Amino acid sequence: MRLLQCILTQNDCYKAGRTIKPKGVMVHSTGANNPNLKRYVQPVSTTPARADLLAQLGTNANGNHWNRGNLDVCVHGFIGKLADGSVAAVQTLPWNQRGWHAGNGTSGRSANNTHISFEICEDGLTDPAYFKQAYQAAVELTAMLCKEYGLDPLADGVVICHQEGYRRGVASNHGDVLHWFPRHGKSMDDFRSDVAAALAPEPAPAPVPKPDKNEEDNDMTCYKTLADVPEYYRAAVRKAVDRGALLGTGSGELNLSEDFCRTMTVLDRLGKLD
Ligand SMILES: [Zn+2]
Repeated sequence: MRLLQCILTQNDCYKAGRTIKPKGVMVHSTGANNPNLKRYVQPVSTTPARADLLAQLGTNANGNHWNRGNLDVCVHGFIGKLADGSVAAVQTLPWNQRGWHAGNGTSGRSANNTHISFEICEDGLTDPAYFKQAYQAAVELTAMLCKEYGLDPLADGVVICHQEGYRRGVASNHGDVLHWFPRHGKSMDDFRSDVAAALAPEPAPAPVPKPDKNEEDNDMTCYKTLADVPEYYRAAVRKAVDRGALLGTGSGELNLSEDFCRTMTVLDRLGKLD
C-alpha cells in the first residue's frame, strides 16, 4: 500500500483539534462516482511537499476538495486513484484526532469519539479491478492502524463500516460499505479476517541446521595419550602433565586436540611451563 500524507489543515475539524484514544477503525465509502483522490484531497500553500503532492494527486479544478473551511465532514484518510490511475492511501488527519465521519447514532453515542476513519473513493461500483485494489489498500491501512494502536480487528466493534456503526447505534444511517463490498463477494467479516491475516506474523524462516556436535568432534584430531601427541608438541604437553596442570580423564587418557597442544607449545616457548 502506498501511503501519502496531506493533512486537511483548513478543514474546521482539523482546526477543532480534539483528540481521541483510538479504539477501532470505521470504514466508509464516499457514495459518489468519483474514484480520484484529488476530488477530496488537495494540499494548500502551507502543506509540506505541496508540489510533489499535487503532481501525484492531480489538481482539483473545482475547488470542492475537503481542505477548506465550512464543511461538516472530515476523515483520517482516503483511498482512491492518484493522477496516474494507481491506487493509494492518503492520511488526511493525525490518526488520534477526533474526526467528523460517523455523525450521531441512535444510542446518542458517536464513533467519532472512538474510531479512526477513512473513505474509500467509490467508482461506479462495478469494476472488479478497482475494487480489488481499493479493498486491498483498505485491508493494509486498517492492519497498519490496528498494529499502531494495539487493536484486535476480530474483537467486537473494533473494525466496522459505517452501516454497522449505525446498527450498533454509534453512527448515522448510511449504507456504506455494504452497498458495495458484497457486489464483489466481500462481507465485513471477510474484511476483518483479511485484516487479521495481514497482521499475522510471517511464518518463521526454517532454522539453519547447526552442525552436529558429534560430527564436529569426530572431525577434530584427538590425541588420546601422550604417546599419540606428535613429537613437536610432546615436550610442552609433558611439562603440563608433569606439573599437574593437565590431568586427563583419569584412565591415562588425555584426549587432547591439536589446538590445545599448539597452545601448550606456545606457553612453553614463553617459559610458562618451566
Ligand atoms: Zn460513511
